[in-house]
Amino acid sequence: TTSGRRVSQFWRGSVHLEDHTVAREGTTDVEIPVGIEGCIGNTPLFKIRSLSEATGCEILAKAEFLNGAGNSPKDRVALSIIKAAEDEGVLRPYSGDKIYEGTVGSTGISLAAICRARGYLAHICMPDDQAKEKSDLLLKLGAEVERVRPSPIISEDHFVNRARRLAAEHTASNDIPGHGVFADQFENEANWRAHFEGTGPEIYKQVGGRLDAFVAGAGTGGTISGVALYLKPRIPDVKVVLADPEGSGLYNRVKYGVMFDPKEREGTRRRHQVDTIVEGIGINRVTNNFEAGRELVTDAIRVTDEQAKAMARWLVEKDGIFVGSSSAVNCVAATKLALELGKGHRIVTILCDSGTRHLSKFWDQVGAVGNDDELSLDAVLNA
Ligand code: PMP
Repeated sequence: TTSGRRVSQFWRGSVHLEDHTVAREGTTDVEIPVGIEGCIGNTPLFKIRSLSEATGCEILAKAEFLNGAGNSPKDRVALSIIKAAEDEGVLRPYSGDKIYEGTVGSTGISLAAICRARGYLAHICMPDDQAKEKSDLLLKLGAEVERVRPSPIISEDHFVNRARRLAAEHTASNDIPGHGVFADQFENEANWRAHFEGTGPEIYKQVGGRLDAFVAGAGTGGTISGVALYLKPRIPDVKVVLADPEGSGLYNRVKYGVMFDPKEREGTRRRHQVDTIVEGIGINRVTNNFEAGRELVTDAIRVTDEQAKAMARWLVEKDGIFVGSSSAVNCVAATKLALELGKGHRIVTILCDSGTRHLSKFWDQVGAVGNDDELSLDAVLNA
């Protein structure tokens, strides 16, 4: 049974958006997840052997690239945003309703996959300097993709503003069926709530309540805020530390209370002006999602592109872990923090996405990892 107008080129299945089914297998009742949405969350947490040995701390990674829809933590966010819109009645399956989003990629990929599964269309606006793998993947998932020139957030051509405007135009139009819904991952608080309800509790359980620090970058701020808001009341001494790439103002916001470096106001370049290779983290505004947990983020660590590249190489060489740029930034920051805190501490960070999504850009610069490489941790941290 469907509601609303049908869209001819769309699959005309019946709509059952249940989350799981209980099936009998032998004598035991087992809960079986339904659809790719059922493969979101409950990601493994594991100890990164090389970094733990080298620092004398336990450096633990939450393997968010193993989320089963779009393979990043954004699966949690996309599902949370979609479910909130369904609950409000603004999204109705197979009605022509279309989700519009401005994203550097990961959120778009998660939205596109979940939209397919739940009977919606997806329109993604993204900056044209991001790895081509992401826009290719979006097209393969059947999303409409627009790649726009990077511009400041105040510009109406900014990818986020464009997505917002297109959603409003869709809804106002008499010619296009269904609603246009702006997902709005930066300001929509369904984002941090997904991490408050999923990522945070999972980490808390996986470390058995014992944790010294949580380290993460911020793109929207949803991950760091949601996890911090969950952990802090339960582990009052836990440190929440931002990992921030070059050009991002958040580092300054955390360190100095303002978005620029007071020592070099004139020279501070904005994120869109800095040709960093790191994708997905670092911004120059305080979003609702960062603001939600901002007071709990008590320190920030700056990570350079060179350090991120060296860490990506290290993780493959020593551990066989193949990740993207933001994960590498997180691991550099976690390692620096471990050395700062001293031996015996336990630190959790996030592995956001796989290196396969960054082959043409980030990994193209990192290069192939040889068997004879002898990379030292000093060389990584001082790259
Ligand atoms: N890593 C990648 C690859 C991302 O795309 C993003 C989000 N844009 C993040 C990390 C940061 O997560 P958050 O938006 O929750 O701050």
